[in-house]
Amino acid sequence: MQFIDSHAHLYAQEFDLDRLDVISRAKEVGVSKILLPNIDVESIDRMMDTYQLDTDFFSVMMGLHPTSVKADYQDQLDVMKDLLESDPDLYVAIGEVGLDYYWDKTFQTQQISALKEQLRWALFYNLPVVLHCRDAYSDLASLLKKPEYQNLTGVIHSFSGSEHELDLFLPLDNWYIGLNGIITFKNSGMAQFIKKIPLERLLIETDCPYLTPVPYRGKRNESAFLYHTLSKIAVIYAKSVENMAEITLNNTIRCFGI
Ligand SMILES: [Zn+2]
Repeated sequence: MQFIDSHAHLYAQEFDLDRLDVISRAKEVGVSKILLPNIDVESIDRMMDTYQLDTDFFSVMMGLHPTSVKADYQDQLDVMKDLLESDPDLYVAIGEVGLDYYWDKTFQTQQISALKEQLRWALFYNLPVVLHCRDAYSDLASLLKKPEYQNLTGVIHSFSGSEHELDLFLPLDNWYIGLNGIITFKNSGMAQFIKKIPLERLLIETDCPYLTPVPYRGKRNESAFLYHTLSKIAVIYAKSVENMAEITLNNTIRCFGI
């Protein structure tokens, strides 16, 4: 059985002491590939170092995370734009980008401008987009509905919204929905309505080191734990784990063209 961790920050400091062990454990349970989303200008070198450990196993993205959109965001975007321009084939997606009104609304306007610019990159380079969204689902959905973004594809990663918020994205059928360890939390309530997502639009991810699934909740998350998220989703959809692994693997390959 093989499956892909479609979103993991394995280059984070949390893995500095045992990154190679983390990679081995992931491979042992069947993880066949890990996609690394970028955060900001600071994280690029770390991400590339991890990518260099195994360039067949890892894929990298380029983008500015909404919580890193500050006064200097245009400078950061310029650096990223140059990197994209110099080697567009290196990146499997623009990510992670999006809107996050949960932590801080100071740069809300700038977040929207940064997102729009990066969506234009995705259109120009014909790349999928990995979208992060927190407390901004309705703004994001209305943006994606605009005619100029109609041809975009990608994933609403780490979906953690309500049923109503999920309903906003169901008509946008170019877009996949990424589920992570939250689905295993008893209090998330997501198990009740997540089945509304068509099977062919489902991706799985850890978003490690965060959002560790049960039974490891509270510990550092890692890609090997993705098995538990996959198992929970298989139960919800009344499929075998093997079948669900195959479905999400094929969806990930289709979404990212990998
Ligand atoms: Zn992330």
